[in-house]
This record gives sequence, structure tokens and C-alpha cells, in this order.
Amino acid sequence: MTAILRVTNLTKQYNHFTAVNSISFEIKEGEVVSLLGPNGAGKTTTIQMLLTLIAPTSGDIEIFGRNLQGHREELLSMMNFTAPYSLLPYNLTPKEALTVFSLLYGIRDYKQKVKFLLDEFDLAGLVKKRIGQLSSGEQMRLGIAKAFINNPKLLLLDEPTASADPSIARELREKILKFMQESGGAVLWTSHNMREIETVSDRIIFLARGQIVADDTPQNLKKRFGQEDLEEIFVTIARESLSKSL
Ligand code: ATP
Repeated sequence: MTAILRVTNLTKQYNHFTAVNSISFEIKEGEVVSLLGPNGAGKTTTIQMLLTLIAPTSGDIEIFGRNLQGHREELLSMMNFTAPYSLLPYNLTPKEALTVFSLLYGIRDYKQKVKFLLDEFDLAGLVKKRIGQLSSGEQMRLGIAKAFINNPKLLLLDEPTASADPSIARELREKILKFMQESGGAVLWTSHNMREIETVSDRIIFLARGQIVADDTPQNLKKRFGQEDLEEIFVTIARESLSKSL
């Protein structure tokens, strides 16, 4: 399988504080990889570097074998993301917002695409509301719909279901996995919901204090830590990293 994303020695320093410390990993075609770690571990910083929202201090990011800095526009057009800190235009309706995003991405059959996403993500009933009037769960659904506007080959999901109720969260997970299976694309997914992580992940990368402390399949992690419960594994890693930093 081809590597869609290859990160090599990626580092981000804020003055003398190292938020991400020389991390290296790959994500291959069709893989769903979770990026886990305690609060402040460096997950969002990593995702923001992958989106070119912040510049790395050092290290390389390659997407489809091409350097992200050198091919920024071309590579970003093949990616998409959703994150709680990425606010949608609150004065537009969901349909207007999806139309604007589809035009930004140069989607040819944009009317058809917008209609498809409104139906798929159960947003059609909200057509008259402005985004600022939507509940946080509804905004989250719209954020995920937006992430599929350009059929991304690399999808970055920063806590994509955090505001969704358990039933909607399950539907969203199933939809995300279905769309990505159809496109053969890859996903990098962060969440603090261990049941969600267990359901979706082919591989889990654990970050602690900016460093990768584990990168393995859920099955192998369970063997390594002698624990069936991913939440217990998380707590073990989080406590180990905390005791080292004290
Ligand atoms: P959470 O699970 O809480 O969302 P995270 O793993 O996403 O955490 P980051 O948001 O990546 O963590 O933050 C990593 C570290 O970098 C934190 O200690 C944070 O305080 C620090 N940090 C982030 N942005 C800045 C900044 N602009 N200046 C200084 N420090 C920063």
C-alpha cells in the first residue's frame, strides 16, 4: 500500500517549549489512524501543521510523496478536515455554506454535491436556519458534511463527534468510514472517546508530551499492555507520561 501521508521528525517549538518533539509516522492508503494522547500532548498542534495552519519548527511532511510546503495548494485541494476550532460562517444557512465551500474547491456539479451532502448528513430539514442558530451537534454534522465536499484523499478529523449524541455519533462514524472506504482515502482521527477509537482505528498512535510512545494496531496494544480495555491503556500511558514530567 502506498503512503498517503509521511511525517518525518516533525517538531514544533513555542519559544522554549516543545509541543511536538520529532515525531515520525506514516498513513497508508485506506488506513484509519487515531492520534491519541492526554490533554496538551500535541495532537491539535500536529493536525494544524498538517493543515499548514501553523509552521513546523523542523521536520518534513509529505503527502502523496510530495512536500507539503512546496505543493501546498495542490495538496490541500486533495485534503479536508473538521475540528471544533474551525468555525463555520454563522450568518449563512447550511446550504449556502456548503455552496461557498464547493465553489472554493471548484466542484463542477456543486448543486448536486450540496444536495447529496445535505441529505446524507440529515441537514435538509435545517435549510431555513442560519449556522449560528444550529445546536453544537448540528454544527458538527455540517462540519463533517463540509469535509466531504471535495472527496478528500486525506481526511483530518479533530474530535469529529465530540458534540454529537451517542446515536448521531454512531451514524457519523459509519458514514465517515463508508465514504473513506469508497474513496480509498486515509484518515487521521483524534478523539477522547475510547469506544469510538476502538471502533474506527486500524492503527493507534499515542502521543505523550509531544512524543510518540506507541504506534500499533489496537490488538497489539492490548497484548503489549496486557489490557483488553483501551481506556485502561490510555490511563496507563497518560499516568506514565505525567510521572516522567514531574
Ligand atoms: P487536548 O487533548 O487538550 O486538545 P492536544 O494534544 O491537542 O490537547 P495541543 O493543543 O496540541 O494539545 O497543545 C500541545 C501543547 O502546546 C500544550 O501544552 C499547549 O499549551 C501548547 N501550545 C499550543 N499552542 C501554543 C501556543 N500558541 N503557544 C504556546 N504554547 C502552545
